[in-house]
Amino acid sequence: MENVCLNNCVRFTKWIPVIFISCVIGWSYYAYIVQLCLLCIDQMSKKVIYIFLYHIFLIMFTWSYFQTIFTPIEKPSNEFYLRDTDIYQMEISENELAKKSVIDKKAKDLPLLTRTSTGGARYCDKCKCIKPDRSHHCGVCQTCVLKMDHHCPWVNNCVGYSNYKFFILFLFYAVLYCLYIFATSLEYFIKFWNEIQSFQAGKFHLLLLFFVAIMFGISIFTLLAYHIYLLSRNCTTLESFRAPIFISTGMSDKNGFNLSKLENCRQVFGNSLMKAFLPICTSNNDGINFPTSIKQSLAASTQNYNANDSLLLNERQALNTSKKMMDQIRITME
Ligand SMILES: [Zn+2]
Ligand SMILES: [Zn+2]
Repeated sequence: MENVCLNNCVRFTKWIPVIFISCVIGWSYYAYIVQLCLLCIDQMSKKVIYIFLYHIFLIMFTWSYFQTIFTPIEKPSNEFYLRDTDIYQMEISENELAKKSVIDKKAKDLPLLTRTSTGGARYCDKCKCIKPDRSHHCGVCQTCVLKMDHHCPWVNNCVGYSNYKFFILFLFYAVLYCLYIFATSLEYFIKFWNEIQSFQAGKFHLLLLFFVAIMFGISIFTLLAYHIYLLSRNCTTLESFRAPIFISTGMSDKNGFNLSKLENCRQVFGNSLMKAFLPICTSNNDGINFPTSIKQSLAASTQNYNANDSLLLNERQALNTSKKMMDQIRITME
């Protein structure tokens, strides 16, 4: 019984940042719509335009935010989990080498491009599964998460393959939301700031709204800029700290999944520019198989190798033909 209570308390604590953000959004709605638009702005046309545009920014911002929170994280597919017989075999194994051989045997048939620093397959002891490329175990969610970026307490969810696009859009629309409030309330902020001696609750809401918009806007913009940089290199936050090690080269490479700026964006946002700005799933991959720049460079070198081979073949054929001609001439001369 105590454990159930404790678990519920822990679960509730995790939701506190989300409740806080939701309260700030709710209060900003009241401050902007009631205090600014309805009570301060006199012109009807200005009032209507401000309220209309505000709702567009608000809808996009909250839609992306709640999509990031409530989109379930993607776990590895069944083929990555060890069977009961494998787990039993690992449990009865006497040394690490025997355990490693069970893992490597299982990993042999899986589509993997990366490995551990010791050369084995990446294995999660808690989930009893081989980790697909770019996936990691999240200690808070207590599961392996596909293309895990980081665990974000502000959305009480892991940011990974299933919701990375929503997370970027949430940051993007949050910055636009703050920027819009800043730009449209600046005029009234200056007016009220000059009349600060006469205290009114409405003015207090507007002044606070202006400061909160600047504060949140700057901090979210910093985070957005960092994620745009990571997105342009097709690198997750975790990979930026520890680069993946590729089986093909045996080396760690931060740019292993970096294709080109456009292709990197397509991997997350899909091919349609219209849909890219909507918080709906449009990703170009399945979260398990990822194209790599390493593969491409290997393919390119193989192509060059083949091209060199065919050049050599042509030269050899030409040499043979000229040899035959020389022989024929020699025979006629004789
Ligand atoms: Zn795990
Ligand atoms: Zn998590």
